[in-house]
Amino acid sequence: WALTSVSADAVVQATGAQQRRAIAKSITLLESTRADHRVQADELLTALLPHTGKSFRLGISGVPGVGKSTFIEVLGLYLIGQGHRVAVLTIDPSSTVSGGSILGDKTRMEKLSVHEHAYIRPSPSSGTLGGVAEKTREAMLVCEAASYDVVIVETVGVGQSETAVANMTDMFVLMQLPNAGDDLQAIKKGVMELADLVVINKADIDPHAATRAQAQITSSLRLLGLHGNPEHAHHNEAIWHPKVIQISALKGQGVETFWASVQHFKALQTQSGNFAARRQQQSLAWMWERIDAGLKQAFRQHPQVQALLPQLTQAVLEGRMAASTAARNLLSAQINRA
Ligand code: GDP
Repeated sequence: WALTSVSADAVVQATGAQQRRAIAKSITLLESTRADHRVQADELLTALLPHTGKSFRLGISGVPGVGKSTFIEVLGLYLIGQGHRVAVLTIDPSSTVSGGSILGDKTRMEKLSVHEHAYIRPSPSSGTLGGVAEKTREAMLVCEAASYDVVIVETVGVGQSETAVANMTDMFVLMQLPNAGDDLQAIKKGVMELADLVVINKADIDPHAATRAQAQITSSLRLLGLHGNPEHAHHNEAIWHPKVIQISALKGQGVETFWASVQHFKALQTQSGNFAARRQQQSLAWMWERIDAGLKQAFRQHPQVQALLPQLTQAVLEGRMAASTAARNLLSAQINRA
């Protein structure tokens, strides 16, 4: 592997095909599980860090078929037309479970993917959701260092991936179908609470249904704002109340309205100091999440823990030992022999 030749300068300063190669190589390095690659990857991240943070990070989620790739394609092309550079990263939770893919197996965003001002990277294809989210977060930093000023992180509406995306972006957008019931699913899963903006797509099919859905989701959001768990929402209800808009991604309708809402949100967040606070909070939460994951992995790999684990697991399964007692024994085994 010629990964040692990746330099932060190439990511930051090169242009065109040369820069793309540097970005791709950097992300491959970040995704590598080899310990020596991880050391290089951390050096690269540290070198890139001063050049990061200047993009707008936009999370987009919705069930398969809602129209995410159709929308990201028109939005991306619109933004490029406005002079932006757009990166699209994906977290595909199915890849972490089955090694398969909900998002990746079709040709998506045909025009955007070949545009010189766009960079599209599919989801890392293996690992835990936490691991995949970590790689995506780092890939986002690489794209920012390469002057992509809008980074879109896309995920599907299954599993915990939406929380992961909301936790790494400045604004989280939930795409919904104008069907009755789609919003109830989102409320039940706690995803509606994460949304800073809800977009009802496919309004062209049945405008009346879309308008009904808009009214219904608007009132659901009002209730969640009043009674929901404020720790779940990433915005401050006093400053921003999540909006609901209708679009047709297929017809390219509503893209300007969408972007105007994003700009409005960003301006209010910036003025109130929430923009910076949300990022700081995300960085620290991220650090602790990775510490938790690292500790757990080290714990599982500890020889003393490995030696005790089978018998204690059996004792818990057979009801001979309380789960909490087994946990305490294992924890002290690791600490005592550290
Ligand atoms: P994704 O799985 O969320 O990425 O959804 P896609 O973007 O692949 O869209 C799924 C299907 O819905 C495709 O056949 C699209 O052409 C269609 N579609 C997407 N947006 C719209 C829309 O606004 N109106 C209509 N009528 N169809 C749409």
